[in-house]
Amino acid sequence: MAEDSKDSLPHSSNSTERPRPEFHRVLLKISGEGLAGPEGFGIGGAALAHVADELRPVHAMGVQIGIVVGGGNILRGEKFARETHITEATAHYMGMLATVMNALALQETLEAEGMPTRVLSSIHIASVCEPYIRRRAIRHLEKGRIVVLAAGTGRPYVTTDTAAALSAVEIQADALIKATQVDGVYSADPKLDPNARFYERLSYDRVINERLKVMDLSAVDLCQRNGVRIHVLDLHKRGNLAKLVSGEVVGTTISRQGDPGAGI
Ligand code: UDP
Repeated sequence: MAEDSKDSLPHSSNSTERPRPEFHRVLLKISGEGLAGPEGFGIGGAALAHVADELRPVHAMGVQIGIVVGGGNILRGEKFARETHITEATAHYMGMLATVMNALALQETLEAEGMPTRVLSSIHIASVCEPYIRRRAIRHLEKGRIVVLAAGTGRPYVTTDTAAALSAVEIQADALIKATQVDGVYSADPKLDPNARFYERLSYDRVINERLKVMDLSAVDLCQRNGVRIHVLDLHKRGNLAKLVSGEVVGTTISRQGDPGAGI
């Protein structure tokens, strides 16, 4: 849903007891790192449980949730091809298969926590999950199921950031929420540069022109062209996701308006 028409959205919650969410439908991008074990790779039970804890209140509010999972906790195609004799395209397909493993782990965890979930994969693996079909994904969302989109775009040489932007546009999400390990977007790496400035609001143009490290520039461009707002937040901070969908200012918002203080 284009950000300009957001105000006219029908909200899925008609219960007076539930907080009225700011969003009707969101696309959440969770990188593989967000699901990793304590060593920073593989799939960690605590990380999975944390994601489920963060999603529960949002799901209970009636927000429709699509999730694109990364696979960097298992394999990144470009790096793997560089370090081996494996053709780069094949390595990328392996990276996409890694996202399927993450998606299955997430599905089981969310369902154990009472959230009905479906995995739809862009690479067809009929014995473990459904194929990605746009209308089917939307039908699941309308039925209150969390939809985990696996295998990225199904094509090599791009990342799951691009898949997340494409999916957000395709399912007409009100926003693309990029869950990261830091609290938003900075002018430089805050761990290395004590003068790094935190941005509460940014324009798409500024992110692209200054090559700020948010997500692939092609993904930002796609969101810009289709008016999908991007929110960048720290998923490790408890309650962040619920706060955002309840209308609180959390992390960095990237939209057409950008940062008024910066004159953009
Ligand atoms: N990948 C791909 N096409 C896609 C999405 C992902 O080829 O549409 C591959 C790519 O090799 C990537 C890997 O899958 O490195 C894992 O995805 P990504 O690096 O985006 O995971 P994240 O960094 O979000 O954990």
